[in-house]
Amino acid sequence: MLSFEEALEKLLAAAQPVEEIRSLPITAAAGRILAVSQQSTVAVPPLDNSAMDGYAVRVADITAAGVCLPVSQRIPAGTVGTTLQPGTAARIFTGAPVPAGADAVIMQERCEHGEVGNTSGVVINHLPREGENIRRAGEDISLGAEILKAGVKLRPQEIALAASAGLPELPVYRRVRVGVFFTGDELVQPGEPLPPGAIYNSNRYALRALLEGMGCEVRDLGAVADTLEATRDALRRAAADNDLVLTSGGVSVGEEDHVKPAVEAEGRLDMWKIAIKPGKPLAFGEIRKQDGNTSGKAWFLGLPGNPVAAFVTFLTMVRPFILRLQGATSVAPRVLTLPSASVWSKADGARLEFLRASLNAQGAVELYKNQGSAVVTSLCWSDGLVLNPPGNTIAVGDTVRFVSFAELLS
Ligand code: AMP
Ligand code: MG
Repeated sequence: MLSFEEALEKLLAAAQPVEEIRSLPITAAAGRILAVSQQSTVAVPPLDNSAMDGYAVRVADITAAGVCLPVSQRIPAGTVGTTLQPGTAARIFTGAPVPAGADAVIMQERCEHGEVGNTSGVVINHLPREGENIRRAGEDISLGAEILKAGVKLRPQEIALAASAGLPELPVYRRVRVGVFFTGDELVQPGEPLPPGAIYNSNRYALRALLEGMGCEVRDLGAVADTLEATRDALRRAAADNDLVLTSGGVSVGEEDHVKPAVEAEGRLDMWKIAIKPGKPLAFGEIRKQDGNTSGKAWFLGLPGNPVAAFVTFLTMVRPFILRLQGATSVAPRVLTLPSASVWSKADGARLEFLRASLNAQGAVELYKNQGSAVVTSLCWSDGLVLNPPGNTIAVGDTVRFVSFAELLS
């Protein structure tokens, strides 16, 4: 058996980012992977500006609280004032450039209109420090700074950064295209009656949602009969125009499991037994493309049929592989170390277990009661997976390693 780490390393060593890059308007780039690092063409903010509605002053003029200064100009956001004359204040609003000569902004709550002696204007009830309430030019982004690195996933926050640096478009990798089909003569579609011996095809919908959630283009061939010919035909159709063929079921070695001989006939296959639970069998290989417009090969990944095994192997092995095809530089999820609120006594002696677990309000991990590899309710109940090393039993209070679905499904 391969260890989980060895299998993942082999997958990641094989995967290369898709070659095509396209420039997308930032309104369409969210969720995509940036293909070329980006520099800012401006400083952000471009000028020193006010963080408050208030009065721009020279600190040297505020010799004591209660000083009254005439108001020499008014600077709303979007306009540029003139140099602040000594002994005066400028009415200023949040985001407006601080006039030359001013070195602090007094928030309006600390000022009032009034007269002191012969001077009428604004009475400053506060002793400012230099720079108070001034956002400095370039304090967020300096001119020319690298703001986004190639390989980063463009979340809403990266789109905000690109926009604030004035970039209207971003170069991204094209979407990864995945052809999927599902083996098993027992499978029927939701909406159809369930004859004796049949089950609903849940992997189809789980994997489509997972792939679409990762931004892939999915070509779904549906369920395929458990015969060698039908499986070979589906492989050819799923490989045409796609980067990856993903299947579930039929990867064991029973005589109803045709994926192995079919992939061997249509390309090349490695059958892996990985020391993980659930999800021990994983098929990895490639399918020759025979279609006229395309050449080369599509990757092939065959997941086990049991729904939890398919889901967990997708998240732990297929997801990082696809991220690499997408051009992402960061493919490893963050692993947290957390206390367990549950007991686990039936550890598998040889395999790394991915236990479905939720987080309680104290930040401790609770294990779902039925960890069977066909128990889909365990996925819905859980917030993530505990990575439990081979042979490890867990007592309440022991620390465990936990990966959150929030991260794996983002
Ligand atoms: P297999 O890997 O084909 O031997 O399937 C293992 C188990 O997973 C069997 O109980 C199958 O009925 C079940 N299974 C296979 N494919 C699916 C699917 N698409 N949706 C739900 N269960 C499946
Ligand atoms: Mg089967």
